[in-house]
Amino acid sequence: MGKGAKSTVHHCPMKSKGGCRPALGGPKNRRYCSTHQTFCATPSCKHIFPFLKTTDVCNSCGSFHEDNIKAQKEKEAEEKYANSKKK
Ligand SMILES: [Zn+2]
Ligand SMILES: [Zn+2]
Repeated sequence: MGKGAKSTVHHCPMKSKGGCRPALGGPKNRRYCSTHQTFCATPSCKHIFPFLKTTDVCNSCGSFHEDNIKAQKEKEAEEKYANSKKK
Protein backbone atom coordinates (compact mmCIF):
# COMPACT_ATOMS: atom_id res chain seq x y z
CA MET A 1 0.00 0.00 0.00
CA GLY A 2 1.78 3.13 -1.19
CA LYS A 3 0.90 6.59 -0.01
CA GLY A 4 0.87 8.02 -3.55
CA ALA A 5 -1.50 5.42 -4.94
CA LYS A 6 -3.93 5.92 -2.09
CA SER A 7 -4.26 9.68 -2.63
CA THR A 8 -4.92 9.22 -6.36
CA VAL A 9 -7.58 6.60 -5.82
CA HIS A 10 -9.18 8.83 -3.21
CA HIS A 11 -9.91 11.47 -5.86
CA CYS A 12 -11.25 9.01 -8.41
CA PRO A 13 -15.05 9.40 -8.75
CA MET A 14 -15.32 5.77 -9.77
CA LYS A 15 -13.10 4.25 -7.11
CA SER A 16 -15.98 2.08 -5.93
CA LYS A 17 -15.78 0.18 -9.22
CA GLY A 18 -12.18 -0.75 -8.55
CA GLY A 19 -9.29 -1.25 -10.96
CA CYS A 20 -7.92 2.24 -10.33
CA ARG A 21 -4.49 3.01 -11.68
CA PRO A 22 -2.59 6.03 -10.36
CA ALA A 23 -0.87 8.12 -13.01
CA LEU A 24 0.57 11.56 -13.64
CA GLY A 25 -0.65 13.60 -16.59
CA GLY A 26 -0.92 17.02 -18.17
CA PRO A 27 1.61 19.86 -18.23
CA LYS A 28 1.40 20.17 -14.46
CA ASN A 29 1.82 16.44 -13.92
CA ARG A 30 -1.32 16.16 -11.89
CA ARG A 31 -2.27 12.94 -10.21
CA TYR A 32 -5.23 11.15 -11.62
CA CYS A 33 -6.65 7.68 -12.15
CA SER A 34 -5.71 6.55 -15.65
CA THR A 35 -8.39 3.87 -15.63
CA HIS A 36 -11.35 6.17 -15.08
CA GLN A 37 -10.08 9.67 -15.72
CA THR A 38 -8.23 11.78 -18.23
CA PHE A 39 -7.21 15.41 -18.58
CA CYS A 40 -8.39 18.04 -21.02
CA ALA A 41 -6.34 17.86 -24.21
CA THR A 42 -7.59 21.10 -25.74
CA PRO A 43 -4.54 23.32 -26.39
CA SER A 44 -6.44 26.56 -25.74
CA CYS A 45 -7.84 25.33 -22.44
CA LYS A 46 -6.18 26.90 -19.42
CA HIS A 47 -7.60 24.59 -16.81
CA ILE A 48 -6.15 21.19 -17.30
CA PHE A 49 -7.48 18.80 -14.73
CA PRO A 50 -8.59 15.21 -14.61
CA PHE A 51 -12.18 14.46 -15.44
CA LEU A 52 -14.20 11.40 -16.23
CA LYS A 53 -13.26 9.63 -19.40
CA THR A 54 -16.53 8.99 -21.22
CA THR A 55 -19.22 10.94 -19.41
CA ASP A 56 -17.93 14.35 -18.36
CA VAL A 57 -16.96 17.45 -20.27
CA CYS A 58 -14.23 19.90 -19.30
CA ASN A 59 -15.59 22.43 -16.80
CA SER A 60 -13.45 25.16 -18.32
CA CYS A 61 -13.74 24.85 -22.11
CA GLY A 62 -16.66 22.42 -22.33
CA SER A 63 -14.87 20.10 -24.71
CA PHE A 64 -15.32 16.38 -24.82
CA HIS A 65 -12.35 14.12 -24.63
CA GLU A 66 -11.84 12.22 -27.88
CA ASP A 67 -12.60 9.01 -26.02
CA ASN A 68 -16.01 10.47 -25.29
CA ILE A 69 -16.67 11.44 -28.93
CA LYS A 70 -15.52 8.03 -30.07
CA ALA A 71 -17.80 6.29 -27.58
CA GLN A 72 -20.77 8.40 -28.67
CA LYS A 73 -20.14 7.72 -32.36
CA GLU A 74 -19.90 4.00 -31.71
CA LYS A 75 -23.15 4.12 -29.79
CA GLU A 76 -24.87 6.00 -32.62
CA ALA A 77 -23.59 3.52 -35.18
CA GLU A 78 -24.83 0.64 -33.08
CA GLU A 79 -28.28 2.21 -32.75
CA LYS A 80 -28.46 2.88 -36.48
CA TYR A 81 -27.49 -0.68 -37.20
CA ALA A 82 -30.07 -1.98 -34.72
CA ASN A 83 -32.80 0.19 -36.30
CA SER A 84 -31.96 -0.90 -39.84
CA LYS A 85 -32.13 -4.50 -38.74
CA LYS A 86 -35.62 -4.06 -37.34
CA LYS A 87 -37.15 -3.16 -40.72
ZN1 LIG B 1 -10.30 5.02 -10.80
ZN1 LIG C 1 -10.68 22.12 -21.22
